[in-house]
Amino acid sequence: MTDAAALPGQPRGAVVSGPATARTVNVLAPNPSAMTLDGTNTWIVAEPDSGLAVVIDPGPLDDVHLRAVIDAVERSGRRVGLTLLTHGHPDHAEGAGRFAELTGTKVRALDAALRLGDEGLGAGDVITTGGLELRVVPTPGHTADSLSFHLPADRAVLTGDTVLGRGTTVVAHPDGRLGDYLDTLRRLRSLTVDDGVHTVLPGHGPVLEDAQGAVEFYLAHRAHRLAQVETAVEAGHRTPSDVVAAVYADVDRSLWPAAELSVRAQLEYLTEHGLIQG
Ligand SMILES: [Zn+2]
Repeated sequence: MTDAAALPGQPRGAVVSGPATARTVNVLAPNPSAMTLDGTNTWIVAEPDSGLAVVIDPGPLDDVHLRAVIDAVERSGRRVGLTLLTHGHPDHAEGAGRFAELTGTKVRALDAALRLGDEGLGAGDVITTGGLELRVVPTPGHTADSLSFHLPADRAVLTGDTVLGRGTTVVAHPDGRLGDYLDTLRRLRSLTVDDGVHTVLPGHGPVLEDAQGAVEFYLAHRAHRLAQVETAVEAGHRTPSDVVAAVYADVDRSLWPAAELSVRAQLEYLTEHGLIQG
C-alpha cells in the first residue's frame, strides 16, 4: 500500500510481468488501485535446475490469478514447494489459504495467524527449497510483521510493501512505527552497500535496478516529510488531518487517508523523541 504516486527524483523502471532476474518471475495480480499501483506482484522464485519453486505473496483471493501463478510455475516444469508472505495485508495474503489448498503447500509468515503448517518465519531463517538460498530479513515499519527476502545469487531483495517500485510506502500506524521503518531502511541500505544487492523486487510497481539509490531516496524522503510534519505542528496544525492537509497538499486526495496513518506514525515518533509536545 502506497501513500504517493511517482515522485520527482525517484528512480523509474518499467512494470514487469514475467522474468525479472535469473531466479524470479512476476505474475501481476489484477487488483490495480491508487493503493496497490499496477496491482500486487506475486513472485515465483526458483533455482534454474530445480523442479521446486517458492511463491511469495499469492495476492488477493482471486482464483483466476492464483491459477495463473500455478500455470506459470508449471510451464517452467516445476511445482510449488512453499508459499511465503511478506506481511498480512489482504492484497498480499488474502489468497494464501486458497493457494495453499490448490498447491498442497504450507504457508510461512511472521504472523502466526497467517501460517498454514507448523513452521514460522523470522530473523536468521534461510529458505532452501529446491536448492534456493533465500535469507529472511526482518523489515518492520510498514507493518510490524513485514519481512523481506534476500536472494544473494541474483543480488536481489524482495521487499513486499517496505520499498515499492513507485512512490513511497505507508507507515501503517499504529501497527507500523516510523522508528522501526527508519531502522529497516538502514538495514536494507547495508544489504546494498555491504552485500552487493542491486535489484529491488517490490510488492507493487516496477523492478528497481538501483537498489541503493532507491533506499537512499526513501531515507531522504522520510527525513523531508518528518521535517515538514514538525514544521506544520510548529505552525499550529494540531490534528493529524490538519497536518495531512498542510504536508500532503501535493498528493492526490484519494491517498490522504493512508497519508494520515503515516502522519500519525510521524507525530508519535516526534513526540517520543521530544521533538514536539505530545
Ligand atoms: Zn501492505
